[in-house]
Amino acid sequence: MGSPTASAQSWSPCSAADVRPRLFVVTGPSGAGKGTLIRKLVHERTDLAVAVSATTRARRPGEEDSRDYHFLSEEEFLRRVEAGDFVEHVEYVSGHRYGTLREEVDRILASGRSAVLELETEGAKEVQRTSPDAVTIFVQAPSFGELERRLRERATESAGEIGERLELARRQAQEAGDFDHVVTNDDLTRAVGELGTIVDKELRAPEAMGPRRRGAMVVPRQGRRERP
Ligand code: ADP
Ligand code: 5GP
Repeated sequence: MGSPTASAQSWSPCSAADVRPRLFVVTGPSGAGKGTLIRKLVHERTDLAVAVSATTRARRPGEEDSRDYHFLSEEEFLRRVEAGDFVEHVEYVSGHRYGTLREEVDRILASGRSAVLELETEGAKEVQRTSPDAVTIFVQAPSFGELERRLRERATESAGEIGERLELARRQAQEAGDFDHVVTNDDLTRAVGELGTIVDKELRAPEAMGPRRRGAMVVPRQGRRERP
């Protein structure tokens, strides 16, 4: 689980030769600030890239195709499901579909960077099942009232859809413990720092290291002598 003091620890950056790219899944309720945190973090670093999801929902003002989402028709989305193009996909409360395209993730990993996926909790659990090495991070708002305030202030959905998202958020809050880390997005700068610390630590974890570093980490056995 994420610790509130984690951002206070300092980590020197890992060199590209030390780590292999990983999947980072950022999940949590709509409105918690996942997208905001990810944009800030990825802007600061060259070793991460966001896997742009596909969706059938309508584009919001200011959103761009292929930058924010690959906006697909229902027919095209289902065709790509049939073709096996998705790592995971869900039908969300709104009835709209969302999914992670395999080619997006492959392209990022092949470039030597780690991929950041922003998913609701069911998709995050699917990635946990299919990629057990993936690092999952649950982002929550400091309170339910603040989550509601953020969704209403963002005002990107109708009142009815905001209500559905809030109802789902109450259920999702019970699932925080199912993920590797929890980050409370209270102060934005602090929360981005905590997320960055988690990424650095996970990139240094043995699962993330190539053979050279894993070999270097082997601790010689102590206190055993060969018989003469
Ligand atoms: P999500 O991607 O989880 O649905 P967003 O990133 O769209 O959430 O954030 C929801 C709203 O909350 C946005 O209007 C965003 O500007 C605002 N927001 C995000 N983080 C914070 C924060 N730490 N403090 C206050 N407002 C925030
Ligand atoms: P929004 O409509 O607000 O952009 O997204 C709604 C929800 O869908 C958010 O919780 C977001 O994290 C999630 N989401 C976005 N892309 C994907 C995806 O590819 N797969 C899954 N499972 N969820 C996604």
